[in-house]
Amino acid sequence: MKTHARVVVIGGGVVGVGTLHALVKKGWSDVVLIERNELTSGSTWHAAGLLPLFNMSYSVGQIHKYSVKLYDGLEAETGQHVGFKKVSNIRLARTAERMDEYHYYAGVAETIGVKVNFLTPAELKEIWPLCETDGIIGAIQHPDDGYIQPADLTQSLAKGARDGGAQIYRKTRVIGIEQKPGGEWLVKTDKGDITCEHLVSATGNFVRQTGNMLGLDVPVIPVEHQYIVTEPHPAIQARQKAGLPEMGVLRESDSSWYMREESGGLLLGPYEKGAPCCYVDGPAEDAEYELFQEDLDRLAPHIETAMARVPAFGEVGIKKVYNGAICYTPDGSPIIGPAWSRRNLWLNEGHSFGVTAAGGAGWQLAEWIVEGEPSIDMMGVDPRRFGPYASRGYLKKKNEEAYRMVFTLHYPDEERPEARPVKQSPCYDHMKALGAVFGSVYGWERPNWFAPKGYGFDPAEIERPDVLTNENHAPVAPGEKVKELWSFRRSNYFEHVGNECRHVHEKVGLLDMTAFAKYECSGPGADAWLDSILANRIPKKIGRVGLCHLLSQTGGVRSEFTVHRTGPQSFYMVGPGAFERHDWDTLTKLLPATGDVRLQKVTGQYGVLVLAGPASRDVLQKLTDTDLSNASFPWLTGKPISVGIAQAQALRVNFVGELGWELHHPMEMQNTIFDLVMAAGAEFDIKPFGIRAMTSLAIEKSYRLIPRELSIEYSAYESGLDRFVHPNKGQFLGRDALVERHAAGDKWKYVTMEVHGVSDADARGSEPIYRNGELVGRATSGGFGWRVGKSLALAMVKPEHGGEGTELEIKILGQMHKATVIGESPFDPDNECLRA
Ligand SMILES: Cc1cc2nc3c(=O)[nH]c(=O)nc-3n(C[C@H](O)[C@H](O)[C@H](O)COP(=O)(O)OP(=O)(O)OC[C@H]3O[C@@H](n4cnc5c(N)ncnc54)[C@H](O)[C@@H]3O)c2cc1C
Repeated sequence: MKTHARVVVIGGGVVGVGTLHALVKKGWSDVVLIERNELTSGSTWHAAGLLPLFNMSYSVGQIHKYSVKLYDGLEAETGQHVGFKKVSNIRLARTAERMDEYHYYAGVAETIGVKVNFLTPAELKEIWPLCETDGIIGAIQHPDDGYIQPADLTQSLAKGARDGGAQIYRKTRVIGIEQKPGGEWLVKTDKGDITCEHLVSATGNFVRQTGNMLGLDVPVIPVEHQYIVTEPHPAIQARQKAGLPEMGVLRESDSSWYMREESGGLLLGPYEKGAPCCYVDGPAEDAEYELFQEDLDRLAPHIETAMARVPAFGEVGIKKVYNGAICYTPDGSPIIGPAWSRRNLWLNEGHSFGVTAAGGAGWQLAEWIVEGEPSIDMMGVDPRRFGPYASRGYLKKKNEEAYRMVFTLHYPDEERPEARPVKQSPCYDHMKALGAVFGSVYGWERPNWFAPKGYGFDPAEIERPDVLTNENHAPVAPGEKVKELWSFRRSNYFEHVGNECRHVHEKVGLLDMTAFAKYECSGPGADAWLDSILANRIPKKIGRVGLCHLLSQTGGVRSEFTVHRTGPQSFYMVGPGAFERHDWDTLTKLLPATGDVRLQKVTGQYGVLVLAGPASRDVLQKLTDTDLSNASFPWLTGKPISVGIAQAQALRVNFVGELGWELHHPMEMQNTIFDLVMAAGAEFDIKPFGIRAMTSLAIEKSYRLIPRELSIEYSAYESGLDRFVHPNKGQFLGRDALVERHAAGDKWKYVTMEVHGVSDADARGSEPIYRNGELVGRATSGGFGWRVGKSLALAMVKPEHGGEGTELEIKILGQMHKATVIGESPFDPDNECLRA
């Protein structure tokens, strides 16, 4: 066995081998894969081999698309058969809301370049004559996907990798991992040690054990997944004999199962409720080709619906039931990218559709390793999107939920209920008592909006007993009312959010933003270090606040921080709560070795209450002896103030475009401040408001968000950050690439659009945008702007179509709307409210 390699990949399933193959394609041949047993002896051997292109995420969608294209050409490359059957993939709809989901998805697919056809029940019957169409209102078909033989695919990828110089060591187990002081990895195996520069973990169901070796609690725990294979059916055999094409992969989303032909019979795979987590501490050391005892009772409701939809399925006996472990993460997407707090350690784990994702995941990971950055925005699959809160107990609940919700409608406003609340602000109960309907981000509970007293629906009123995937609201305790219905359209909370927006604009509101990630940076080198990594000028005067972006090395936007200078050598920085681990990891990896910069994460020490609206000064002035007038406390400054008997660092900034202050206070003083502010605000009719109102208010200001308008896929100039980017200030991370990219000509332009003719479905982000029938861009956010009274969309379009006044079209849920490019910040473009 070699003793040194540039990269060692642990795990010879389809994902590990896919990564090895991609590294070789990128030109690195000194790469090694270590497999404890035989290739595909983990989850890969019993996968059903389906390659569903369907995915609501812009990034995962691109990964899947790449895989399918790669697999299509693999046989030509390696000479080894992969068994790819492009039989197409059909998803059925029985409800109007399911059709909304398909229309929304079709928009995402169009912007990615994935073909989707809409089918009528009659067209469906033509393709799938064994499928009954009663109750079906429509379907979508991916003509380019189908299924593949996972083992053949893996062997073919392995051949391609070996042909390019990679080495694969089978029957070799990694038993220990150490990082040497110089940063190299020492991988200990039962056949000897190997040292490498980069280490990739692709160990599937064994990831808990790998995590132990690495000292990382990787947020993956597998769940049991079963599929049933029947005996041959005469009708299918007759079709085969007659040379008729194989019927596509069929998915009855509303009954939560997939079905395809298999050896003259049928294969049925349900995603059922009650499937338990497994391998919580990993499989046994000697596990191979492992299957669990089947549990058909659990599948009964799905089998019943499958027999009704495809009677042939019930007409033949069951040949075999496969019950295998399938990896899950709390949100169901894999984790692909760098591990946190370790250098040159890469995770390609947590794949529940690993056969589908392997090619694309390997492609992006190889780019990241070889070039230092992927070309696709990987935030949706980044390992650092979960924090330390995602521990065993949390994972068990969340991963079982992610499994059972594979086929539920993926509403854009869905708030999944399991493992909540895990992180609460101290004012959680206060907010709840005021009617807060909570959402969750990075484990934090945040009020999304406030329901009036006694408001809600009786659950029985809104049940849809005709479908198995019935969840369109959070479950409620007996006797409790449902407050919020999820939808692709304007939902029941629309007007209430509008009231909150109006109230903040006309009077004053209070918002809990404790979930913000917070950092303190200090030391003699702090100023110079921040200046060297951030694109904006670092605030010079004590008290000044600036919005600063950390760019990727190619000039895209990786992170965003509000930077407040608190002293000659100290800064307080605020970032998005959802990216705390990502940003912390990025920042700490950039810290200079000189030791003259101290960086601390202080998220848990400070709560944040945002006071916003024209009366906010009057309210706060009642509680503090600090002069809050414009002359003494202008916009974009901050200072420590007393708030009654408590204290806070007050920053005169906010994300809603109104006069206001963010009060960053010691966490333990939150309720004192909350009570004081609410009491002082009573005479001004103060009311709480939530994240949904904040989002609408922010869209009216054209404020950008990671990973929507800001992303590594768009340069900072393309995202319209000219005001915040200063190439003339000297070197900073990504500067040269940004300047070069800009000089070569921007490929995108960030625009704000007014969408016309919207009555019940605003843009949400990811809708395709056209001009004269040509696809010219995609929406990144959207919603109704209550202050301007318009339906708005934020978008990235080709620059030649981004001029103010340009008439475009946007497809929302399958319907074309006229849209006009309007000036940035349709509400208060001169920031008069913020400066008031
Ligand atoms: C019943 C079932 C049906 C499925 N159907 C589909 C489908 O239709 N489409 C789809 O896309 N996905 C499907 N999946 C999921 C798919 O099987 C997985 O996502 C995929 O196989 C994961 O591949 P992997 O390489 O990550 O893991 P694995 O295939 O489990 O490979 C991990 C490898 O790492 C090795 N390893 C672990 N630890 C060590 C160590 N310390 N030293 C050396 N080697 C080590 C293991 O031996 C193993 O071979 C299905 C899964 C199940 C259970």
